[in-house]
Amino acid sequence: MDSGTIAFLGLGHMGLPMAGNLVAAGYSVRGFDVVPAAVEAAQAAGIPTAASALEAVKGAHVVLTMFPGGQQLLDAYRGVDGPGLLDVAGPGTMFLDCSTINVDEAREAAGLVVEAGHRSVDAPVSGGVVGAEAGTLTFMIGALAEDLEAVRPLLEVMGGKLVHCGDHGAGQAAKVCNNMILGVSMIAASEAFVLGEKLGLTHQALYDVVSTASGQCWAVTTNCPVPGPVPASPANRDYQPGFAGALMAKDLGLAMNAIESTGVAAELGPMAARIYERFRDEGGAGRDFSGIITDIRDRSAGVD
Ligand code: NAD
Repeated sequence: MDSGTIAFLGLGHMGLPMAGNLVAAGYSVRGFDVVPAAVEAAQAAGIPTAASALEAVKGAHVVLTMFPGGQQLLDAYRGVDGPGLLDVAGPGTMFLDCSTINVDEAREAAGLVVEAGHRSVDAPVSGGVVGAEAGTLTFMIGALAEDLEAVRPLLEVMGGKLVHCGDHGAGQAAKVCNNMILGVSMIAASEAFVLGEKLGLTHQALYDVVSTASGQCWAVTTNCPVPGPVPASPANRDYQPGFAGALMAKDLGLAMNAIESTGVAAELGPMAARIYERFRDEGGAGRDFSGIITDIRDRSAGVD
């Protein structure tokens, strides 16, 4: 597929560096964000911009969205008090959504896209701002095989790994499942490190065992919640994110919606969602999600 012009909508923390990588790779990009400061930042980074989302989309071959949530996506597709993106796009335009949204919203959005005579790919990412800047994101993709092949070259500019998870919505499904494991495992790892402290274990000793034993997980070996054993983990820089608590709370909320709509008898996922909601509301929104360990430690104080 000739990617022609890419309308890139949503130039926030993730979208800006992703769009920058496309421009650097020689793609023709027209960016837009509803926040003027984001548009100015994009211009300063050498990303061409349009005066509105509809302007950006007119004549574009690909409409790439990187929005905070599904409501913004559905509103933009349909239009609020006027035409939407689906109305002004040329026939057969590729709508590539990289936002993290509800599985049901992703399926609804894809249905609208296809009904309007266009093509839809959901491709949420993991890897954070660092991965977006480095072009090493992992894309979890829900799409028809031929549509994935059409956008593969674009995704390979922005990402290091592409996983085709299934049909529309499957990318979002894989993302919420993965992040539910991550939320639960970070809480488990943090509780274990605080328990180890109480039992007189050094962080290094516990790390040396867990990292090579059956408790091994990403939350310990890459994002270790205590400073020392993994020098690059956010714990070594006072829990500067990394992956912010607000985003973990958001993703667990999406997982809870999926659990509710499917009726899965999950217990730990909902508990993790409540724990991260509290973490977000009590000062953890902008801290790395591994900072949950300081809450656990604080609540364990005075019981030695
Ligand atoms: P962000 O809030 O920084 O950026 C989103 C941007 O979309 C904002 O600048 C906002 O103004 C813009 N926007 C909203 N509605 C719009 C519209 N109708 N038209 C044009 N622009 C619009 O968020 P982010 O951190 O860049 O995250 C984007 C998405 O990626 C989210 O869904 C998030 O969950 C997901 N994500 C983020 C990270 C991360 O580490 N930040 C990691 C993985 C996935």
